[in-house]
Amino acid sequence: MTTTTDLRPTVTRPRAVERLVVGQATSDGAGVKLTRVLTHNLQRRLDPFLMLDAFGSDKADDYIAGFPDHPHRGFETVTYMIAGRMRHRDSAGHEGLLENGGVQWMTAGRGVIHSELPEQEAGVMEGFQLWLNLPARDKMSAPWYRDFKADQLPKLTTPQGVDVTVIAGESHGVTGAVTRDGTAPLYLDLHLPAGARFEQALPGDHNAFVYVYRGEVTVGGQAVPSQRMAILANEPSSDGVVIEASADAKVLLIAGRPLNEPIAQYGPFVMNTQQEIYQALMDFREGTLGEKPGR
Ligand code: MN
Repeated sequence: MTTTTDLRPTVTRPRAVERLVVGQATSDGAGVKLTRVLTHNLQRRLDPFLMLDAFGSDKADDYIAGFPDHPHRGFETVTYMIAGRMRHRDSAGHEGLLENGGVQWMTAGRGVIHSELPEQEAGVMEGFQLWLNLPARDKMSAPWYRDFKADQLPKLTTPQGVDVTVIAGESHGVTGAVTRDGTAPLYLDLHLPAGARFEQALPGDHNAFVYVYRGEVTVGGQAVPSQRMAILANEPSSDGVVIEASADAKVLLIAGRPLNEPIAQYGPFVMNTQQEIYQALMDFREGTLGEKPGR
């Protein structure tokens, strides 16, 4: 944990909120109940992000079936577990247990088949899964995977007492667990005490949003209540975002550089063309999608 005494220039032209979004209740996998916060119709607007699911329940029936074997190709999944235990196994030979405060970052690249299964039969399971697109040139890259335990994630505390976990990107001089050249993702988990103010520099052309999962914040004069996503307006002259906590609040701040490439999605495959989607389906059917290199 670092306490920053960062004195670099602060945000002077903060972004406004363009709109508030209510997630859609749905289920996925073998019947896991979740809220899809970033839905299909927002993929273009929030490029390079394809999906954000929030899951949270203390009823085992809502999560116990998990996500048995399923494929992915062409993007990255970032799973952030606030509470609970989930076991990951994939066709590239990776296995890990994701639990309280940990992050799993998986680059599906040309393909993985994996399962994500709860290792608890009671208690609370809460967390998020974000889908981050890959640039066309990286969609068929080798799969990559890493687990970060809570204490392996870079953290800082601002002088105003805001606790920041830097999952990706950079905040107040602290580099995140993961950085990516193409999409330059920023993924922060902010815990703000009531009355605190948090500033984050953001390039004006990056797409950005805030998701409040506890309490309430104000962004650019707009109140953002719990369980709402605020899409931040893209103003070329803006230099960042200012988040003020009207109550104790927990917030995800996510931003990235848009790819501006065609998006072709069929379920767990996200490519650039229908031909590439067809190829992914063929490879999956023929059993070659999740093959280890050299086989
Ligand atoms: Mn998956």
